[in-house]
Amino acid sequence: MYSMPKILLIEDDPQVAQLLQIALEQKGHAIYWARNGDEAARYLPKTDLLALDLGLPDVDGVELLRQARALRPRLPVLVLTARDDEHTKVYCLEIGADDYMTKPFSVLEFIARVQALLRRSYGGPRIRVGPLELDTEGYRVTLEGRELKLSKTEFALLRTLATAPGRVWSRGELLETVWGPDFDGTDRVVDVYVNMLRKKLGDDPRDPHFIETMVGVGYRLLEPKRDNPTVF
Ligand code: CA
Repeated sequence: MYSMPKILLIEDDPQVAQLLQIALEQKGHAIYWARNGDEAARYLPKTDLLALDLGLPDVDGVELLRQARALRPRLPVLVLTARDDEHTKVYCLEIGADDYMTKPFSVLEFIARVQALLRRSYGGPRIRVGPLELDTEGYRVTLEGRELKLSKTEFALLRTLATAPGRVWSRGELLETVWGPDFDGTDRVVDVYVNMLRKKLGDDPRDPHFIETMVGVGYRLLEPKRDNPTVF
């Protein structure tokens, strides 16, 4: 996520939408506003976070959430709804909402939850994994205090892996997160960039200290070992 985070707001009530849009823009976010399912489908591939009102005129919000999840498995989703029953809440979380707010809610709380979701999903400004430190605002990486020269894509790949050390990422997930949903090539590009990144990290794929190949699955960044004195 290199540009400013883009938020897709699916909300049919123009007054609510305008209020949230102004507040989000003041915080430096770009907004796509969709009033219905058709508009939502147009913006969904391009967004970094989805804020979804469940009560929409032309489409069932829960069904839309299910479709969004199928298209963008890792997209952070905040559900907004007037429905206050436990069944709807549990159901939304089960089919992939990350957070949930019941109307009426305060705009300040909405902004705080959006920002918390973005942080959780894309990492804060500084990420430390053992001897690696990433400054995601300055796009700098150091290894044991020594700066590594990474290309923009190498940096994005490393940052993605580093947001969740130990977590396995499929090539498809890395493609969507690093290259974006509009990328036209094959997932071989992921292997190429992992190899370039390994060279810069001085990592040996047969005895990795950083990036491990999970055969038939994808890649992960190893969690720091406790017995290694260079890590914490
Ligand atoms: Ca509504």
